[in-house]
Amino acid sequence: MDFESNLAEIRQRMDTAAAKSGRAPGAVTLLAVSKTHPPAAIEAAAVAGLRYFGESKIQEARAKIPQCPGHLRWHFIGHLQSNKCREAVELFSMIQGVDSLALAQEINKRAEQAAKTMPVLLEVNVAGEASKFGYRPEALLAEWAALNELPRLEIQGLMTVPPYVTDAENARPHFVRLRELKAVCEQRLGAPLPHLSMGMSGDYVVAIEEGATIVRIGTALFGKRQYAASKSAPGETGE
Ligand SMILES: *Cc1c(COP(=O)(O)O)cnc(C)c1O
Repeated sequence: MDFESNLAEIRQRMDTAAAKSGRAPGAVTLLAVSKTHPPAAIEAAAVAGLRYFGESKIQEARAKIPQCPGHLRWHFIGHLQSNKCREAVELFSMIQGVDSLALAQEINKRAEQAAKTMPVLLEVNVAGEASKFGYRPEALLAEWAALNELPRLEIQGLMTVPPYVTDAENARPHFVRLRELKAVCEQRLGAPLPHLSMGMSGDYVVAIEEGATIVRIGTALFGKRQYAASKSAPGETGE
């Protein structure tokens, strides 16, 4: 399969799933997860019409982004360390995966220094997996008020990486939980939150049926990732 046909198939499945959840074709943003892929692959994706790209390591993004077309928008989707917040604020138009008040405060400080407001999504570990980053739902609600007081942070919604499953149907309850948690957050805030970032190559159709507004797709678009021997294993979200 080549890139163009992968993209055509994904777009078609996205539109069908959007219609099932009462939304228009094109209503869901496709975030092309380009980690490990070279600027040439990103350039080709940009020519095919993609605009939003996801990277999970600051070091990789720092080298790659300047070599890519300037009109692209980059989302950070990895685990951000506080000493990388300054660069993340510079390089990215959204930071997905904020999972503590301390990290949010550091991003707020760096955004203020850069005279910016930073769009972010809060990461939720919906299944409570010990090996994963992200807020437990109760912990998020406990910090919700304090997070919303940070003036340079624009909290646009929630994101999750559910447990790995071979049948995407088994991810559905986790997507439902994230959507329900967003509703609780909106009620406490008294305002709508635009985004739910959920769904990857194996389960994006189910995620969209349950209300995803951003799907993060790597493998189904670009093919399998090649990791250098020194890097961590596939499935990592670490920085
Ligand atoms: C790598 C990654 C993806 C993309 O995963 P695929 O299965 O290749 O589509 C999505 N979200 C996050 C947070 C990732 O780290």
